[in-house]
Amino acid sequence: MLALGTLVSVGGVGMWVRSAGWLDHGGYGLGWFVEPAPRESLWRFVAGRVFVTSNSGVLLLGVSRYTSYSSDRAGLSQWETYGGWEGSSMQGVHLRADRVVAWRWGSLTDWQAGGLGLIEQSRQGEDAQIVSLPWSMVIGAGGVPAAWVAWRRRRRARRLVAGQCLRCGYALGPADEQRMRRCSECGRAETAKLPSDPATK
Ligand SMILES: [Zn+2]
Repeated sequence: MLALGTLVSVGGVGMWVRSAGWLDHGGYGLGWFVEPAPRESLWRFVAGRVFVTSNSGVLLLGVSRYTSYSSDRAGLSQWETYGGWEGSSMQGVHLRADRVVAWRWGSLTDWQAGGLGLIEQSRQGEDAQIVSLPWSMVIGAGGVPAAWVAWRRRRRARRLVAGQCLRCGYALGPADEQRMRRCSECGRAETAKLPSDPATK
């Protein structure tokens, strides 16, 4: 938890800084042909994509779907090689103008507020649903638990050295006297043991 939180937090700071000048994009595509049903005449190719974009201080997580139509399968041949991983990085590009706005309300599934939001997008036949997260929030989500764990560890180490109850911090006196004594403040039975204490080895 500490390691993962720290990784998310430190990585998030790096990506946050990078997102000011770069647009990083990656995704995975999956597509399939749909034969016309009886009484229908059109073949379809359904192209789906899961993607991640980092830019302008936000992380966008999205899924999109695009359907292409043709009277025969051959007319969809340009899609034969569709799918798999793709990624790109561009410098000096900013989403803010068209995708990231400070405040916008469309519906419950389409709104934005300060980088946070749900975005429904229809562009040139492609429908996308996007979750927008500010990098600051991602950093906080990793950093707060990591800082909490680190602070608890430090407090425990400090109390061990100071001969205080590990639960409530009550001063219990020298380590050799306190071993297995019950804390008179909170009732914790096994109190501080110093690392040098033979009983712990
Ligand atoms: Zn106590």
